[in-house]
Amino acid sequence: MSTPKAHHKVLIIGSGPAGLTAAIYAARANLKPMCIEGWSAGGQLMITNDVENYPGFPKGVTGPELMKEFREQAARFGTAFVTADVTKIDFTRTGGAPFKAWVEDDLYTADSIIVTTGATAKYLDIPSEEPLKGRGISACAVCDGAFFKGEDVIVVGGGDTAMEEANYLTGMCKSVTIVHRRHEFRASKIMQDRALNNPKIKVIWDSAIEEVKDIAAGKVTSAIVKNLKNGDKQEVSCGAVFVAIGHTPNTSLFAGVLDRHDNGYLRTKPGTTQTNIAGVFAAGDVQDFIYRQAVTAAGTGCMAALEAERWLAEHGPAH
Ligand code: NDP
Repeated sequence: MSTPKAHHKVLIIGSGPAGLTAAIYAARANLKPMCIEGWSAGGQLMITNDVENYPGFPKGVTGPELMKEFREQAARFGTAFVTADVTKIDFTRTGGAPFKAWVEDDLYTADSIIVTTGATAKYLDIPSEEPLKGRGISACAVCDGAFFKGEDVIVVGGGDTAMEEANYLTGMCKSVTIVHRRHEFRASKIMQDRALNNPKIKVIWDSAIEEVKDIAAGKVTSAIVKNLKNGDKQEVSCGAVFVAIGHTPNTSLFAGVLDRHDNGYLRTKPGTTQTNIAGVFAAGDVQDFIYRQAVTAAGTGCMAALEAERWLAEHGPAH
């Protein structure tokens, strides 16, 4: 049994907009939170070039700049940070003991926990993807669609996200081509119908993107689309490729401890950030598979801190 490295009233796991907003609120409530920010601190915004939809930044802001401001604001009010991943948790609280989280051999204990570990967008795993990420290959139409006004774009995927992103993009792009690997969508009927009835959307079925051009030009100009049934290839001219093949919520650490939906996202009581364990709250993308926006993550981070504060006031510290 390791000796606790530190005990905190509020321990925040994760440091995207949800975690850092929770930290700002908890710190300003004098709860002296500890944020274990992860090795990839800052979350998904750290791989987002320009953010134009975060209120308060009329000229836009880069994702890393925005997260730097969040972090500074949290630190200013006294948030402590550990830059590492939590490797193990124990939320059992036998006999009123505190919640426990380990970073390798270092044990941190807490009276309340806010989980904000986010989700990771899945990508296609093709060679041109890394160099063109943020230069036309994106996993978020709401974030990046406006950069491709009037252009032809591709959406990859056949789920609700792909349908939603394709419909959204028709509001600004010249045309949207959905590339899907099978001959039917898995999206809900209503979302499919909306996409299939949209005159600006066409579908290339049974196909996958083999390559995206043009790395040398530093932007997306076309995609090589391969028919998976007959092997035929076609080059589709486009200014952007939006990958909408799902996200993986970062919840494996909490498997068997915190309730999850069938799709792996943490379950919270509707209208709250409360998990199935009293005193453990979840905010941001780790519990949100509908909105997934920085601003909604920040909103639920705020809710989690306020709920933790009330919970601590009612229940007092762990023994
Ligand atoms: P899904 O897992 O539902 O769909 C992913 C899609 O991507 C599938 O069509 C899948 O193909 C395809 N895919 C997966 N991996 C690859 C790959 N490597 N290459 C090519 N295609 C691939 O994810 P979503 O993000 O669409 O949805 C996640 C959850 O969020 C769902 O429960 C959904 O209902 C929900 N959601 C709800 C919304 C709403 O209610 N407004 C909006 C958005 C999402 P295949 O079908 O062949 O497996």
